[in-house]
Amino acid sequence: IPVVEVKDVTHVYVNEKGATLALDQIALSVRSGEFVSLVGPSGCGKTTLLSIIAGLIPPTEGEVSILGQPVTGPTSKIGYMLQQDFLFPWRSIRENVTIGLEIMGKLTREKKEFALHLLEELGLGQSAAKYPGELSGGMRQRAALARTLATEPDILFLDEPFSSLDFQTKLQLENLISHTLKARRKTSLLVTHDIAEAIAMSDRVIVLAPNPGRIKSEITIPAYLA
Ligand code: ADP
Ligand code: ADP
Repeated sequence: IPVVEVKDVTHVYVNEKGATLALDQIALSVRSGEFVSLVGPSGCGKTTLLSIIAGLIPPTEGEVSILGQPVTGPTSKIGYMLQQDFLFPWRSIRENVTIGLEIMGKLTREKKEFALHLLEELGLGQSAAKYPGELSGGMRQRAALARTLATEPDILFLDEPFSSLDFQTKLQLENLISHTLKARRKTSLLVTHDIAEAIAMSDRVIVLAPNPGRIKSEITIPAYLA
């Protein structure tokens, strides 16, 4: 079974200005271990689609399931890496990475070691005792990724994770992060307006167009380009 399955999702926003068809008959699935990107210009429905898959808003029509279970509300099966890192400024990087597990009451010795291992894998082994304010933007994003991976989500959502970074840092992170996620066979869904970023990181790119939000094409990236 696919990790994510979106079946004929249509979404209409209604407000005082009228109705907007934000998504029109979207169907897609993400297989286990696959890295898929959703790419398209502002207004094509990326945020709406992610919010629907995440169970934050119910679609006007259609269905979403994660690992075969219908999505009816927010789920802990998803881990997030967002544009902002949301690290706690008064906690060390090490504490930031384990805090999610601690809150969930799942912080065993084994998980703590796994979390530290993730920090090393992401090049932050030397920075574990530092505080977020002492790190660069790229390092903080890597710490945020380590934190979400430490909770072992079934799928990772990356929503414009690099949009606040400079170009060089962004290229480095695209590389490091796609290799880390591929090595771990982590099922991932990236949302971006940057087609180059999508191609560099994904196994498959789904292109959306606006007014109304529709899937325009799908590109499978050959493994020899990875
Ligand atoms: P992005 O392009 O980065 O996804 P947007 O600027 O399109 O962000 O939207 C930012 C926020 O404003 C989102 O939470 C979205 O739901 C909301 N939003 C976007 N368009 C409208 C609109 N026409 N009316 C009300 N809220 C909107
Ligand atoms: P993207 O993330 O690709 O920029 P969105 O999902 O934010 O696209 O928006 C898709 C369409 O839905 C746009 O036309 C946007 O203006 C509209 N929209 C988004 N959020 C709202 C909202 N809360 N109310 C009304 N219209 C919205």
